[in-house]
Amino acid sequence: MDYYTWKMRRNYPTARKRRKANKEFHIRGELKIKGKKDDMRECKVCRKILPLIAFTTYGSDRGVYDLRKYCRECHSKQRAEVEIARKTAPPKPDRCARCHKKEEKLQLDHIHGSTTFRGWLCGTCNTGMGKLGDNLEGVLQGAIYLENDENKIIETLHKVFNEMFARTR
Ligand SMILES: [Zn+2]
Ligand SMILES: [Zn+2]
Repeated sequence: MDYYTWKMRRNYPTARKRRKANKEFHIRGELKIKGKKDDMRECKVCRKILPLIAFTTYGSDRGVYDLRKYCRECHSKQRAEVEIARKTAPPKPDRCARCHKKEEKLQLDHIHGSTTFRGWLCGTCNTGMGKLGDNLEGVLQGAIYLENDENKIIETLHKVFNEMFARTR
C-alpha cells in the first residue's frame, strides 16, 4: 500500500466501521455514551486508568456522546487553573493571537498543569490547538502530515514566524 492510500484509509474509515463504532454505546441518565459501560480508559492528563463514569461528555455524533480525554477531577482542576490565570491575564485584544482574525469572543488559553496565562485565542484556534495535543510535538506532527518536504516546512516556519513576530512589535 502506498503512503497516500494508507493516509486515505486511516482518515476515512469505511461506513461499516463507522456504524460499528456508533453501535457500541451505553446509557447514562438519558444520554447515549460511546463505549461499553464497564470499559476503562486512560485520562490523558493524570494517566490514571478509570471507568467511563469518571469522564464527562463532550460532543455528540448522531446522538451518541463522546467523552472528554481527561477525567472529571482533571477537568475541574483545569477549570480552577483557568480562573486563576484569568486574574493575571492582560486585557483582551481585538484579534486572536494565532490566526489574527478579529474576534469579539476570545477565549483564555493557559498552560495546562499551571496557572500561567498563554494568550487570547478565538474558539476555533483554541479547540484546534487542544485537539492537536496542545503542544509543539502535536502541532509538528500535523505539519509533517500535511507536508512531507522537510525544507518546505522549515521555509514556511520562518515565513510564519516572521509574520507573527512582526505583529507583536
Ligand atoms: Zn485525570
Ligand atoms: Zn484564531
